[in-house]
Amino acid sequence: MYVARRRVEGAESALTTTTFTGTVWRDSVMPTTDGTTINDVFFGPGSRTFWHHHENGQLLIVLSGSGFVRPDGGEPARIEAGDVVWVPPGERHWHGAAADSFMIHRAVSLGKTAWAEAVADADYAAVVG
Ligand code: MN
Repeated sequence: MYVARRRVEGAESALTTTTFTGTVWRDSVMPTTDGTTINDVFFGPGSRTFWHHHENGQLLIVLSGSGFVRPDGGEPARIEAGDVVWVPPGERHWHGAAADSFMIHRAVSLGKTAWAEAVADADYAAVVG
């Protein structure tokens, strides 16, 4: 059994330096355990993940703020505090803050995460307006 507190005791918030664009902070809530990883992620306005997919899917729980999630080739969705998103296994996507708002989400990632290229500024702008 693993009791996941708000974040791992003693862990410092980490400023991400790869696989994200813009200012993004991450707190580890549960280090990878039985293939499941839980992080709280703070996206500053305009920041977002690179394109990526999750081996066995991902649950996103929006805790505060406002942002977007976009599947490759699909319609982007605006997401707000209280929304829950299921990303199916292997679906290429990105998630991040709106241009004019931060977003905090809890991410429950199942299996390995495979990272690809950055979301181009023009592609991001086309989604967020
Ligand atoms: Mn994801």
